[in-house]
Amino acid sequence: QPLVEFRGVEKRYGGGTRPAVAGLDLTVAKGEFLTLLGPSGSGKTTTLMMLAGFETPTAGDIMLDGRSLAKQPPHKRNMGVVFQNYALFPHMSVSQNLAFPLSVRGMRTQDIAARVDEALALVRLDGLGHRRLDALSGGQRQRVALARALIFEPDLVLMDEPLGALDRQLREKLQAEIKRIQRALGLTIVYVTHDQSEALTLSDRIVVFADGAVQQIGSPQSIYEHP
Ligand code: ADP
Ligand code: ADP
Repeated sequence: QPLVEFRGVEKRYGGGTRPAVAGLDLTVAKGEFLTLLGPSGSGKTTTLMMLAGFETPTAGDIMLDGRSLAKQPPHKRNMGVVFQNYALFPHMSVSQNLAFPLSVRGMRTQDIAARVDEALALVRLDGLGHRRLDALSGGQRQRVALARALIFEPDLVLMDEPLGALDRQLREKLQAEIKRIQRALGLTIVYVTHDQSEALTLSDRIVVFADGAVQQIGSPQSIYEHP
């Protein structure tokens, strides 16, 4: 059974005539790195937002672990998300940023400290816990965003252009980090980018979007050979 299944999913914003996404059938296997690739406006973010539960499909259904997402309350879905600036507080320290969601959930103080240290080690920010977020470099901040997404130990992680603001060298370094962490934790990742080379580097499979529909699905090699 796939971890995620889109069944005939459509999304129209504000009753518009042209759907942002239509006729979407798509599965994501456990442990897979799936990338949604396509130009701006092709429906990638809308697809990810529906999976995250931030947007609701206007038709069709999304299954998570064999159960309709519509029937699972948001707090019961253990997904990590890395969106631009999502859920990070610039004036708090790195550790406070990571501890905050855990304390909101009522975790005990010692357990929080242990979990935060683990997360920092995972993204190789050991020793930087005391730094304020707005004193970090762009790459360090993306590592915090990644740690934040992983703080509840999710099986599924959604990322929308997480490296889009970084220069090429840093982007390549963090791509390698994301792959390392994915393999170490056995994560399933759904990743949005408009950068073809990034998609080729990271993905087990690539979904090519055009005008709100899937144009092509396949391995990086098959996409590369038959673009
Ligand atoms: P992307 O870079 O993924 O294409 P944009 O920068 O175009 O996204 O959009 C940023 C935000 O604005 C998103 O939250 C998106 O849902 C929203 N948005 C995009 N297009 C429209 C639109 N036509 N009307 C209202 N909101 C929009
Ligand atoms: P992508 O992520 O590939 O850039 P999006 O999913 O952001 O594509 O957008 C797909 C289409 O839906 C675009 O035409 C965009 O303008 C529109 N759209 C996205 N978000 C909104 C929104 N919140 N309200 C209205 N239209 C939107």
